[in-house]
Amino acid sequence: MECTESRDRMSAFADGELDALAAWQLTQHMAHCPECAQACEQLLDLRAAVRQHGQRHAAPPALRQRLRQALLEEGDRAKEVTASPRGRKWARLPWTWISLGVAGASTAAFAVTLALYLSVPSEAERLDQEIVASHFRSLMPDHLADVASSDQHTVKPWFSGKLDFSPPVVDLAQAGFPLVGGRLDYIKQRPVAALAYRRHQHVLNLYVWPGQAQRDAPPRLTVRQGYHLIRWSRSGMEYRLISDLNAAELMDFERRLAAQIDQDARP
Ligand SMILES: [Zn+2]
Repeated sequence: MECTESRDRMSAFADGELDALAAWQLTQHMAHCPECAQACEQLLDLRAAVRQHGQRHAAPPALRQRLRQALLEEGDRAKEVTASPRGRKWARLPWTWISLGVAGASTAAFAVTLALYLSVPSEAERLDQEIVASHFRSLMPDHLADVASSDQHTVKPWFSGKLDFSPPVVDLAQAGFPLVGGRLDYIKQRPVAALAYRRHQHVLNLYVWPGQAQRDAPPRLTVRQGYHLIRWSRSGMEYRLISDLNAAELMDFERRLAAQIDQDARP
């Protein structure tokens, strides 16, 4: 990959919109190109700062209702216009001409508002996007671990004083998932524990933070931007596990991890 292509893909990468192969190609380029790696890091830092300090507002129900109504009316009007003899002539004109010259600025403004409204993701989708973006970021050179150690007794104490909770850190090297290390990350505008494991050449990122859910939620597997993502909650903790590893081995990791956490929690 050349630098120009790398730069073209960078903002999609930072937004977690590249598929797994394209993201991998980009990280391979950045591993050997300090200029691109630095540019990408600045972009990710900016993104992280906005994510951490930026304000978010959900659309109030009344606004949603108005937009829905306006959309229905707009659909009806479009049908009327194209059905009339004059309308058929209009329908053949270039769309930009109609939107600017005939339909007027209000329609253009409406279209912009609607596009913004439709592109607002749900809270769960936003969380998944944050996890994918964080996973991407961790794959950049020297970003995987703030404390690089395969020893759980080194990694676990590293978190104390940095977090207001103690994340479970387990060793699964015997099962073929060696611990690589830990780092602090920001998800949902709060610091969380991120633990990195490896399976052959695949990186697994496990995110842990205290949740509000009263009940445990069983693991659920989804695919986000080409990555497998498993979410579950257990004993008051939220977990997200992401990797390009195949689903079967990732589920196997989750089962072993949960069993080991339970075992370690016993007195
Ligand atoms: Zn480059």
